[in-house]
Amino acid sequence: FQKIPLDQKRSDEFADMGQTFNHMIDLLRENYEKQQQFVSDASHELKTPLTIIYSYAQLLKRRGMDKPEIFNESVEAISSEAARMKELTNQMLALASGENAAVEKKVLSPAPLFRDTARQLALAYDRNIITDADDNTFIEGNEIQIKQLAYLLIENALKYSMSDVFVYVRKQGDYVTVGVQDKGIGIHEKDLPFVFDRFYRVDKARTRSGGGTGLGLSIAKQITEYHEGKIYVESLPEKGSNFYSVFPAVKKEPKL
Ligand code: ADP
Repeated sequence: FQKIPLDQKRSDEFADMGQTFNHMIDLLRENYEKQQQFVSDASHELKTPLTIIYSYAQLLKRRGMDKPEIFNESVEAISSEAARMKELTNQMLALASGENAAVEKKVLSPAPLFRDTARQLALAYDRNIITDADDNTFIEGNEIQIKQLAYLLIENALKYSMSDVFVYVRKQGDYVTVGVQDKGIGIHEKDLPFVFDRFYRVDKARTRSGGGTGLGLSIAKQITEYHEGKIYVESLPEKGSNFYSVFPAVKKEPKL
């Protein structure tokens, strides 16, 4: 990525073109560096479960036949790490396809999508989720992605808290806010700026065994931004977290 050396004193259309070109080079370089970072983070994240799988496979080979407890532990570790790798690759694919694909959007209300997802996750996790979702809220959106956003935020609230989770979809002026609030472990101020970064986990040791990938919130952010929205978090350690996305509201076309 070579920039054009520019004569600062020159001010004609060639100088303008040169500047535009150099700006493009900066953008390309930035993008390229981001991609490189992603590839190196991704390989690092995939290597960890792979190393564990490999070591347990070796252990199984050497001692699995004689010792049932080693057999059980190894099979358990291998299947849970393989599940983690599957989750990681799925999420990486979601990120990559979000970057490339032009996903179709239509006018929809996030309310039923958040309500359905909350109901399904409440059942799966055997937990209570309180939903307050206004159906009279419309955005320009992709149903699958908005459902995924709901899934990511609600599942995190369930993972990082023990008590009831509160899910809301509201209209506020020209905006529609969708959010999930919990009274869980919360996030320390120093970690807050990074929680939307790819692969970032507040407590790596603990969340790793819990199967966290550190990709969920970066996907949530990508989905939100793809919908011209902004994602926010308010959180206090031991008090809980409130994650929400704010989208431009649109009017529902009357049905013909
Ligand atoms: P993960 O797969 O680790 O949950 P995410 O990208 O979804 O990855 O979240 C990044 C980190 O942010 C998590 O590892 C966790 O430390 C923190 N986090 C996310 N949601 C919450 C929440 N509701 N309460 C407390 N911490 C959270």
